Amino acid sequence: MTTMIDVLVIGAGFAGLRALHGCREMGLSTSVVEAGDGIGGVWYYNQYPGARCDVESFDYSYRFSPELEQEWRWSERYATQPEILKYINHVADRFDLRRDVYLNTRVVRAEYDAGAMRWIVDCEDGRQWNAGRLILAMGQLSAPKQTTYPGQETFAGRIIYSAQWPKDKIDFTGKRVAIIGTGSSGVQMTPVIARQAAQLTVFQRTANYSIPAANAPVSDAEDRMVKTDYRARREAARNSPSGLGFVPDPRSAIDVSAEEREAAYSAAWNRLGFGFALTFRDILLNQQSNDTASDFIRRRIAEQVEDPVIRDLLTPGDFPFGTRRPSVDSGYFATFNRPNVKLVDISKAPISAFTPDGIQTRDAEYPFDIIIYATGFDAFTGSLLKPDIIGRDGVQLRDKWSAGPISFLGLAVQSFPNMFIIVGPGSPSLLSNVLLSSEEQIDWLTALFEHCRQNAIAEVEASAEAEQDWVEHVNARAQETLYVKTPSYYMGAEMPGKPQVFMPYSGGVRGYRRILEKTAASGYKGFTLNKRAVQGVP
Ligand code: NAP
Repeated sequence: MTTMIDVLVIGAGFAGLRALHGCREMGLSTSVVEAGDGIGGVWYYNQYPGARCDVESFDYSYRFSPELEQEWRWSERYATQPEILKYINHVADRFDLRRDVYLNTRVVRAEYDAGAMRWIVDCEDGRQWNAGRLILAMGQLSAPKQTTYPGQETFAGRIIYSAQWPKDKIDFTGKRVAIIGTGSSGVQMTPVIARQAAQLTVFQRTANYSIPAANAPVSDAEDRMVKTDYRARREAARNSPSGLGFVPDPRSAIDVSAEEREAAYSAAWNRLGFGFALTFRDILLNQQSNDTASDFIRRRIAEQVEDPVIRDLLTPGDFPFGTRRPSVDSGYFATFNRPNVKLVDISKAPISAFTPDGIQTRDAEYPFDIIIYATGFDAFTGSLLKPDIIGRDGVQLRDKWSAGPISFLGLAVQSFPNMFIIVGPGSPSLLSNVLLSSEEQIDWLTALFEHCRQNAIAEVEASAEAEQDWVEHVNARAQETLYVKTPSYYMGAEMPGKPQVFMPYSGGVRGYRRILEKTAASGYKGFTLNKRAVQGVP
């Protein structure tokens, strides 16, 4: 059965549902297909203990409805995963979104029909959609790394992946638990599991920087204050570099006295969480400035850890702070002072195998009941490159991106007309408050769709020249930063064999928005807009 539709959205996370709402408001018939059996994207899958957002709740929420803003009451400064999932479900009900969401519907193939200027999208269960526009809202961190070790199948206990957390309640009481991986997921779950398990062993390959969340309940007074002028808060976020609302001190970190710098870092440390990276404008641009921030954090970590050997292992090494995504934690380092918690350094003595009893490293064997992989994702491109996406003249997206993602504005790809990517590579994406970035892009897209409607344009395609210029611009901006100095998932280093290119756009959300605005104002320069071929196509 083929469903004819104006817009097909792939993915029912925050971005996909927002795209559905935006397109529907325009009167476009729109469906969302979602591989999972629930809405919420990463917030549906990552149900591990301690999961919460690193962006403040007031900012990690939709801005499109002032009524929604007023009626929703966040309970904590940084919302937990269950509260975020409750919020997205509330939004789905409030705006009657579910009737156009098809769960358990995995897209396996999408092919552009150049004659009809439409996308033919095939799903695993045999259903087919025929859509005038295709929106990929598949997430940047939604293809989990399927890390395995030899002998894994012989392990007698339970193995869990943090990004595919099981639905049954895991009782850690009396259990010997291993966590492999110390990124944000490992860092968040460690303190919570340590409080329940008999023993917890954390296997660390690379120590990372982490800032305290400074989480707190949202008081009625704070709630009232934000809601009295929510527009001002939203505008501040839109005009800040990362969409978090923090504007950095415009001075260089090295142009202020040591005392002033220390005071600024201390204030940020105790309040800003992730925003610590924005204490001064050049922390991610200048090595000397970064050294001052990195040194401050190393000293704060050292204060939290009693054992000098563990302290050394937990202290991040020689890469600049922020060039790997830092974590925001709630008592992570102090957890290693507990008698039931152990840290195993696998940088020099790696895990060699799983045994029936547990984990074997080069140096020792450790028995466990439960082993948790918190080893991350095939970031940015993993989910986009899973289905076969075939554009004009049979070009496969996988082939086009074989040396790294190529796009215009991170939104559109030449040879793939009428296909748009939300918070994908080449856009601020994971360097920003992704919820804000997705709303910016969706508002821009719906305005483009309106322009097409008014001008009878059936086909929108990025030009090869615009795409080339954008890729050069993204790379040039990246080269101005320290990000390119460190292998990280920003650089494609998390997956063996992945092209090593800088994935997101580092020019900031405000700079990016200005480029989007300029593009629209120019009549969508950089895109080829083709008139309707057949009457009735939206
Ligand atoms: P991650 O940051 O990529 O961390 C993965 C960890 O696993 C790293 O410590 C990595 O070590 C280790 N690892 C990877 N492969 C391994 C292997 N084969 N053997 C041993 N160790 C291995 O993944 P994540 O913690 O899931 O976080 C990913 C991103 O999701 C975060 O950066 C953040 O953007 C997002 N996230 C956000 C929140 C939030 O908003 N609160 C929470 C969780 C996650 P190396 O560093 O040595 O590679």
